Amino acid sequence: MRHTKVKDLLNSTTTLHEVNAKGWVRTFRNNQFIALNDGSTINNIQCVVDFENTPDETLKRVTTGAAVSVTGTLVESKGAGQKFEIQVSKLEILGDSDAEKFPMQPKKHSLEFLRENAHLRVRTNAFGAIMRVRSVLSFAVHNYFQQKGFVYVNTPIITGSDAEGAGEMFKVTALPFDNTPRTEDGKVNYKEDFFGKETNLTVSGQLEGETFAMALGQIYTFGPTFRAENSNTSRHLAEFWMIEPEVAFNDLNDNMDLAEDFIQYVIKYTMEKCQDDLKFLEGRLLEEEKSKPQAERSEMPLLEKLSFVLENNFKRVSYTEAIDILRDCTPNKKKKFNYIINEWGADLQSEHERYLVEKHFKCPVILFDYPANIKAFYMRLNEDGKTVRAMDILFPGIGEIVGGSQREERFDVLVEKMKALGIDEEELWWYLDTRRFGSAVHSGFGLGFERLVLFVTGMTNIRDVIPFPRTPGSAEF
Ligand code: ATP
Ligand code: MN
Repeated sequence: MRHTKVKDLLNSTTTLHEVNAKGWVRTFRNNQFIALNDGSTINNIQCVVDFENTPDETLKRVTTGAAVSVTGTLVESKGAGQKFEIQVSKLEILGDSDAEKFPMQPKKHSLEFLRENAHLRVRTNAFGAIMRVRSVLSFAVHNYFQQKGFVYVNTPIITGSDAEGAGEMFKVTALPFDNTPRTEDGKVNYKEDFFGKETNLTVSGQLEGETFAMALGQIYTFGPTFRAENSNTSRHLAEFWMIEPEVAFNDLNDNMDLAEDFIQYVIKYTMEKCQDDLKFLEGRLLEEEKSKPQAERSEMPLLEKLSFVLENNFKRVSYTEAIDILRDCTPNKKKKFNYIINEWGADLQSEHERYLVEKHFKCPVILFDYPANIKAFYMRLNEDGKTVRAMDILFPGIGEIVGGSQREERFDVLVEKMKALGIDEEELWWYLDTRRFGSAVHSGFGLGFERLVLFVTGMTNIRDVIPFPRTPGSAEF
């Protein structure tokens, strides 16, 4: 007999004569009630064991974490909180679990402890919920772009260009560490390496993505991205997933419209599909908030916060306006910021971004038209000659979630900019070809998928929204 998913059993419209369920024991009460979970839903199904007719030997093996198979009838439950339960006629132990040693005890564990047990934390309610939400969100990403006719492009993970400039890179090499081949002047001779040149793990698929947008019109990437920044923050991973749409003939305003519509769509989709999980995560967050001082508590429960983002336009503010606001704000005047904003041109730190979003505007914010010299070389120079058509989207509790721009489509301006920054034209010959042959206005952005999952799940550390986080000093599993 084929087993039925717990989710389907709990959603059944009638009692059923014979059903089979397989899953893992969460708890076993009074030698009689198994709370069984199979990952299909956050909810457990209660399985009532006929303990008088079940050998003691078997009952003893029903321990937290054990894999079991239960066969019986699906009946209406007399207990509170569930419509159906299984009256068990046959109980089989599929895999024992040493209850003493099983790390996921039915009690509250710290997130730090759970991180050390990332292979088992997914068996807890919270991580089951987070990972199901993550899965649905990623499907929503594809759904959005596919419905709009975007082409999904897999840009290379091993990249031959070191000019992306988005972050520190991890080298990819097959050269030996001892007796590394050297050139005459003592440098590593990459000509003898696997690819015959220096290669790295990608920090962004944008440059390659642009070449595809200039043929296919609307494209998006969604893939692993690597940055060797040694920044141990709660918002940075060394390996994360990035979504990068790129659209021909879109200017910066179109780009903002796209980003806003896209984010609202994926959040709405996930709210519809993950009601139980989000309700659970909201409750978890409320519990967590209780232990914080009043001033640090978030003002809105999770679902309200998500609805707020759907129902309100993102506030669009130029960098120049933002600097004026920051320069005059109380934490700046009282020197509460770590970096005091004195003048136009300053790079914004996450404390400033969060002030704008959380204290000043109290809604998601799109900052645009940044000073050219704090942004990447490929961004479109404005007529004022000192700002570029960049945009960052800032979210409450997160800070930057999206970074994007209208791209510099003018060959001469782009080359001049590269020269000024010492970026090798020869190295990026293929990128410059997009501006040599049929160049056009185009725009795109990068959204860090884990930052989106952070926002939707209400979690606060990025290590808790990816299955096996890679961070400085940590690559277990
Ligand atoms: P930050 O200033 O937060 O370090 P960034 O400006 O370096 O980000 P971009 O190069 O603009 O980031 O990358 C686009 C998006 O990718 C960011 O808006 C963010 O959502 C995400 N992102 C960037 N770096 C990381 C990282 N190390 N871990 C997780 N997500 C990241
Ligand atoms: Mn950025």
